[in-house]
Order: sequence, then C-alpha cells, then structure tokens
Amino acid sequence: MVAVRLAGFSHPLSRATAHVLFWLLVGGLLGALWWLWRGRKAPLRSAPVRVLQGVAAGLALALILVGTAWRAVTDLDDSPVCSSVPGEEWGSTEGDDGFTPTLYAQKLATWPETGLAMLYADATGTTVCRYAAAHYYVAVRTVARAGERSVNFGDVVLSPRFPTVPTEAGALAEHESRHRPQWAVATVLAGPAAFPIAYGVDDFFFPGARNHFERQAGLASGGYAWEGAGPVLGAPQVVVLVLMALALAAGALRLRRRRDRGPGRRHRRHPAP
Ligand SMILES: [Zn+2]
Repeated sequence: MVAVRLAGFSHPLSRATAHVLFWLLVGGLLGALWWLWRGRKAPLRSAPVRVLQGVAAGLALALILVGTAWRAVTDLDDSPVCSSVPGEEWGSTEGDDGFTPTLYAQKLATWPETGLAMLYADATGTTVCRYAAAHYYVAVRTVARAGERSVNFGDVVLSPRFPTVPTEAGALAEHESRHRPQWAVATVLAGPAAFPIAYGVDDFFFPGARNHFERQAGLASGGYAWEGAGPVLGAPQVVVLVLMALALAAGALRLRRRRDRGPGRRHRRHPAP
C-alpha cells in the first residue's frame, strides 16, 4: 500500500527532476527556470513534433555527455608547457596564482565544451600545449587553412597559427584565456551553446574590435586595433532590427487579441443561469 502510494507520488516528481536536470545541463539556470515557469505547462505537441523534440534533446545530451567524458579521461596536465622552440617557453608559470576557487569553477562550468574541443583536437592530431600562467590549453594546427580563425572552447583555444615570438605568443594565450570566464558565465546562465550564440549576435552588430567580449579580453593582446565602441548598422543589421521589431509587434498584438477575446469566449461557452 505504502509502496503504491510512494510510486504514485514519486513518478511525476522524478520526471520533473529529470526535466529540471536536463534543462540545467542544456539551457543553464535560465533554461531550468523557463521549464519551471512555462515549459512544464506547455501543451502536448503532435507525435512528429514530439519525435523531433526527442531527437534534438537526445543529441544535445549526447554531445554534453561525450564532452564531459572525454574531458574526464584526457589528462591535460600531462601536456607540455607551450614553447615556440624548445627552451623558449611562453607558457611559464610566472604570475601563476595557482588553482583558485574561481579557476576551478571556470574549469568545471566549461567542462563539456572543453572536452568536445579536445576530442576534435585529438581526432585531427593537433598537439595541445599548456599555457601554465593561466592553466589554459592551446591547440595549434600544424597546417593552417586560409581564412581559419582561432576558436575558443572554454578551457582551450583551437588555433590555426600562433606567433613565434614568445612574448607575443604569451600575450595572445593570455587574451584567449580571458574568454574562459566569459564561456563559464554564459554556460552557467544559459547552457554550453550560450557563449557562441551571444558572441555571434554581438559580433553581428559590433564586429571585430567593437565586439564586447573581445574588448573585455583585451584588444591589443588579441591582435585587434581600437575601432570604436558603437554598433555598425549596415543593411543586414537594419533588416534584422526591422524584422525583430515586426516580430515583437506581432507577438504583442496576438497577446492582446487573445486577452480581449478570452473572457467573452468563456462567457459564451458557460452562460450564466
Ligand atoms: Zn578574443
């Protein structure tokens, strides 16, 4: 009797816990809050939509799990200290504050995305070195392709090339490592995809040296020259802004119509005796 009652009560509760955990992993704190606020009350979709939702959720979860597992089995502290030529290390431990709680938190928050980047680096035979001053990792491709840019993934930067002068290389690694707290905060707030999305949106309106994340990480060390702080409003940006304004207006109108219509409908359906 007790078991039946327990099962009856625990089932929806564990389902809710699983949902909250899923949204925490995939969508961060905002994702979990969204699910608690709206997501759990969402109407049941049609079967094909539910299948698509399931596949998307499964893929997202699989990527996070693979990244987490790979990061856990890759011993990055074994990687050599970065150097341009043997003996000319630019990843020295000078200025190293050791493993502070903030550093641990950053590494933990960016764990899955770092793991995915490490998997990519391992799969493509890219050597990874340790920028010891910031406990950060640099993966430089031996063969650079034209137009390739350095890309940060939490605790590691995948780069097509790196300066050969040790001081310049050290400065660039320092700059790249400053993107790690940005990744960490964005991941905790809205999941592992949040930083690339936020960066992309920012870069669309504030390209290159105007990008807020780049400015915060340090323009000069990142190889940027100051261009200004304002947005660049070309035709594509204006089109996107107009479309966003139209979408907002349409949404507000729909909400108002639904509110206006709501009580009347209910009244007609249940006439007063
Ligand atoms: Zn940067």
